[in-house]
Amino acid sequence: MTLSNSLATMDVATSLHPYTDARAFEATGPLIMDRGDGIYVYDSSGKQYIEALAGLWSVAVGFSEKRLLSAAMQQMEKLPYYHIFAGKSHEPSIRLSDKLVEIADDQRLSRVFYTNSGSEANDTIIKLVWFMNNALGRPQKKTFLARNKAYHGITIGAGSLTGLPNNHRDFDLPAIPVVHLTCPHYYRFGIDGESEAEFTQRLLVEAEHTILQKGPETIAAFIGEPVMAAGGVLLPPEGYWPGIEALCRKYDILLVADEVITGFGRLGTSFGYKKFGFSPDIVTVSKQITSSYMPLGAVLFGERIYNAVADNSHKIGTFGHGYTGSAHPVATAVALENLKIIEERDLIGNAAKLQDQFQDRLSQLAELPFVGEVRGVGLICAVELVADKASKRPFSKPGRVGTLAMQIGHEQGLIFRSIGDTLALCPPLIVTEDQISEIVARMHRVLTLTVAQIK
Ligand code: PLP
Repeated sequence: MTLSNSLATMDVATSLHPYTDARAFEATGPLIMDRGDGIYVYDSSGKQYIEALAGLWSVAVGFSEKRLLSAAMQQMEKLPYYHIFAGKSHEPSIRLSDKLVEIADDQRLSRVFYTNSGSEANDTIIKLVWFMNNALGRPQKKTFLARNKAYHGITIGAGSLTGLPNNHRDFDLPAIPVVHLTCPHYYRFGIDGESEAEFTQRLLVEAEHTILQKGPETIAAFIGEPVMAAGGVLLPPEGYWPGIEALCRKYDILLVADEVITGFGRLGTSFGYKKFGFSPDIVTVSKQITSSYMPLGAVLFGERIYNAVADNSHKIGTFGHGYTGSAHPVATAVALENLKIIEERDLIGNAAKLQDQFQDRLSQLAELPFVGEVRGVGLICAVELVADKASKRPFSKPGRVGTLAMQIGHEQGLIFRSIGDTLALCPPLIVTEDQISEIVARMHRVLTLTVAQIK
């Protein structure tokens, strides 16, 4: 038995994998990844793949950045672990907070709280906002507004904000007061004959009606990903974000940008809120903050929230929230080095420079049969496959064609993510022009082979 065969057997015998059909997995076993190099990963048989989803939308600097290894080793040698509870601190945490506030470049975002993941960051904002509103003597202001198809993570709180059926079904979620509004995806949820501007208007009217019907005094915050990624790479219609921001200001509702995927350059700007021209009160980040070399999440917020929370912590004697790994020194040291690399190599500029080539070349795939929509911005894009292009009718068994395309992708050495029958691409920010051409060529091949098998 080869090593990879015995590992596969052990894996099937001992693991429960996230986002996996466990019974199907027992039959197929894992695809074991062994090593990485730039935008490529290699499986245990030595086969090379272009990692065109950057792992889980997260590996900005590619899979072999030695500077992150050095940063981690140096910190491991000096102070491998410490916490920042009860007045303690350490240099990488302090420097990273300063750096994040500098990058955020918005007076509303002057404070940082650390977590280990995006889910924990979004859980933290729920508690932060509830703690704040209790402190301000408005305990009824607790409900969140989110959107159908949103992805904010999977913990009890963050999973409640998520608007995808498989994250709620049989998990007894949502478990917090949340209203999911219409998904702002014009192609799928625009009504026949409705212009994009009319669609935006309808979404804003729906949001305002919901606020008025529930009572503005009960609505704490609106949370959204600037571009909804895990829901299928769904771009907001023109004018959506400024309209949502205006509603939040009008009714004293906090605006939360979940930048776990869009943060640090994915859209060709440092943050998605800069791309879409709005100014959030709270921002959550993770993933590209360390290129996922280490687990780390963070919440950015401003003095108004800070002051209410600080006063209440003084009254109670503590702010009773935080993780053993909050501001982990190795993770924060790796984040600092990763952000330095992004800055030095101008990877945000690279995304801005290559986005036209990436989007234009991929949008040509819309000419193929069964391709309903190709959509994207910056270095994130999706190809949605449909049974009928004219009517946009989905396939009768959702996800079957998408899974087939993903399998063919593996055969062709291209890793992307299938979300139902939508195929998502999100390459590392270090990607080059030539590599984009190769991604598009492989995607073309994958689609041609997939389409040939659709009956
Ligand atoms: N928010 C967004 C926008 C995400 O895409 C994700 C993960 O994909 C999360 C939150 C959850 O992050 P994590 O998986 O680190 O808990």
